[in-house]
Amino acid sequence: MWQTIGQQRALSLLEHGIKNNGLAHAYLIIGPPHIGKMTLAIDFAQAINCQYSQPPCKECQTCKKIAGGKHADVRVIEGTEDGSAEAKTGSQISIDEIKALQHSANLPPYEGKYKIFIINGAENLSHEAANCLLKTLEEPPPHVIFVLLTSNESLVLPTIISRCQRLELKPLASEEISRMLTTSYKLDGQKARLLAGLAQGCPGWAINAVSDNTVLAQRAQFVEEMFFLLETTWGERLTYAAKLGSNKASAEQALRNWLSCWRDIMLIKNSCKEAVVNSDYLETLQDLSQRLNIAEVRTFIQSIERSLAYIATNANLRLIMEVTLLNMPRLKERARAP
Ligand SMILES: [Zn+2]
Repeated sequence: MWQTIGQQRALSLLEHGIKNNGLAHAYLIIGPPHIGKMTLAIDFAQAINCQYSQPPCKECQTCKKIAGGKHADVRVIEGTEDGSAEAKTGSQISIDEIKALQHSANLPPYEGKYKIFIINGAENLSHEAANCLLKTLEEPPPHVIFVLLTSNESLVLPTIISRCQRLELKPLASEEISRMLTTSYKLDGQKARLLAGLAQGCPGWAINAVSDNTVLAQRAQFVEEMFFLLETTWGERLTYAAKLGSNKASAEQALRNWLSCWRDIMLIKNSCKEAVVNSDYLETLQDLSQRLNIAEVRTFIQSIERSLAYIATNANLRLIMEVTLLNMPRLKERARAP
């Protein structure tokens, strides 16, 4: 059974290829961080090499070895994916790694039917590495399948994309994620709905949040800092921008958390309280919806969306954060109770 949930289009295409011996030499799986690109790639590697008649069975030696990263013919080459991990310099996939891959690709499979190379973060291939990989994609050795994963297709060389079968993964409905959390992870309905809403269509985010408490704690910190920033001075806002502007992954995460809160404020203003995602902060969001006018809310939502788009193009992060925080509406500090 495939572990991937939803994504019927991509699954049918792969299943059809396996059943009819019509596999492509290279696939490009596209989708935002935590949508399930790696899960699908592993599912696919298992389905191709599985020993039983209903692949992927997840039970046979081959499926288990692949899941454990111990299969000789399935290799994962890791870049650092934008948004899902800290973007550090040196995270590029180098030409040496691709040359080693080429050498291994020219040898026959050791224990499976196919050799599979999963390249995680295809947008991080250096220019030389991408051109080197292109040569292999143009004349792929038999019994080799490349699976490239990316959250930012615009940074992948167009000539590489044209050699691959594209599989675009779509965000899941929040109900689908909520159902998975109650059935597979035994969460109660309320917690499942909260996480499913916050996951914004990406099941991997919700699964991380179940197993790792820091995910929700980090989100709470970003949301509460945003509440604080609404009432603070311009100077403090710029200090905050400088702090967040030094870490791309954190800045992106903070902006996504804020965007989700501002969408909630918009929903409350339009009398759709029941659709609010950040239900654990409902009271504060309701208070803010009364203190902000609809134009302020709409303009700031657009500002956050623009900032996220600029971050994706690797523009100056500190500048983006400064502009975002200067665009944030400023509220008068609430008179404190004596
Ligand atoms: Zn199997």
